[in-house]
Amino acid sequence: MDSEKLLRQIKAAGYSVVYDPDTEKVDTVIINTCGFINDAKEESINTILRFVKAGREGLIRKLYVMGCLSERYRDALREEIPEVDRYFGVNSMEDILAELGAVTQPELLSDRVLTGPSHYAYLKVSEGCDRKCAFCAIPLIRGKYVSRKTEDIVKEAEILAGQGVRELMLIAQDLGYYGVDLYGKRELPRLVSDLLSIDAFEWIRLHYLYPSGFPAELLKMMRENPKLCSYVDIPIQHISGRMLKIMKRSHGPKATRDLLYRIRRDLPEAAVRTTLIAGHPGETEADYMELRDFISDYRFDRLGVFAYSHEEGTMSGDRYSDDVSQELKESRVSELMAIQQSISGELNAKKTGHILKTVIDRKEGDYFVGRTEYDSPEVDNEVLISSASELTPGSFHQILVTGSTEFDLFGTPAAESL
Ligand code: SF4
Repeated sequence: MDSEKLLRQIKAAGYSVVYDPDTEKVDTVIINTCGFINDAKEESINTILRFVKAGREGLIRKLYVMGCLSERYRDALREEIPEVDRYFGVNSMEDILAELGAVTQPELLSDRVLTGPSHYAYLKVSEGCDRKCAFCAIPLIRGKYVSRKTEDIVKEAEILAGQGVRELMLIAQDLGYYGVDLYGKRELPRLVSDLLSIDAFEWIRLHYLYPSGFPAELLKMMRENPKLCSYVDIPIQHISGRMLKIMKRSHGPKATRDLLYRIRRDLPEAAVRTTLIAGHPGETEADYMELRDFISDYRFDRLGVFAYSHEEGTMSGDRYSDDVSQELKESRVSELMAIQQSISGELNAKKTGHILKTVIDRKEGDYFVGRTEYDSPEVDNEVLISSASELTPGSFHQILVTGSTEFDLFGTPAAESL
């Protein structure tokens, strides 16, 4: 989103812009980096080095780097990769525009050049985070939680609707906290209601509802409003009480279990997604087994597991030694994902014979590839659809599920199966 807003401003300044990580023959390249965990840092650095090489070969004239990695490691990067013309941090749009000889156009601040498929878009409702999870570098880089004004978010959503967006993904580090800093109370349900009144959106999806302060009212809204996806993305990170304490999470194991089972009870059809960290300092075999058993018992619909990344400046990075070996971290990640694979396979098999509303994302080989309301782009399952008629990206269809694998469904338009 930061890149998309910057692209809009650069375009308004008269530049021609492309968003294409594979293009190496342009005048100026701006790389937006991520620097929260090791894998992301590595990917960002590899991208920078690729464009440094393109610069050496005379394919590009200027190379700029912005975003989290350069916010966090600007001095080290300057020293290690001096070929970059200038490093910018986060929230640096004005400085980058000034470097390009342009100024921010305030009336376009809600506009974006969409870089992904045009039928879905992410919309950030806040920056930063006020929580103090011991392993997390986000508050260091992004600062405290700052909610955007509801009217600005609604305006941006209306512009996206006008650009053809049919599925809106609201995102924040902690969506449920929205409004506390700005309005003195949690205002996510009110914001969601305002956005639901924009007709063009077929689906609104919520990403990252922290367990403490979970806005239970949303479950009712999901039940009553088919446009609000029955999709609960609630990162719990762990379930052992000892680990939640070490990780400085503000929810204990009982509260977490109670909430998760309440979600199942109040909204049984919802897809519940979570993320976990394996191998945080201090994680014993007993803690891990507790987590493993819980994953098997609760049967999340969607699951992401990350190997712990030891980050300097975080409490875990500074206070503890990285005492779980990389090998053990990875074997725990693999085992948890193998359990999830089998759960997902069983859950998917039960969908055969059901008709599910599906959005088409793209065509790939013989299939039209889509998603249901229970699946977010890029991280969740897909539906591979065989259809005699053309199904255009961004269109919604009733799909009869005819088969499944662990992470995908197969289907055909219900109308064609009559
Ligand atoms: S709530 Fe999320 S973003 Fe905030 S500190 Fe915890 S893990 Fe980091």
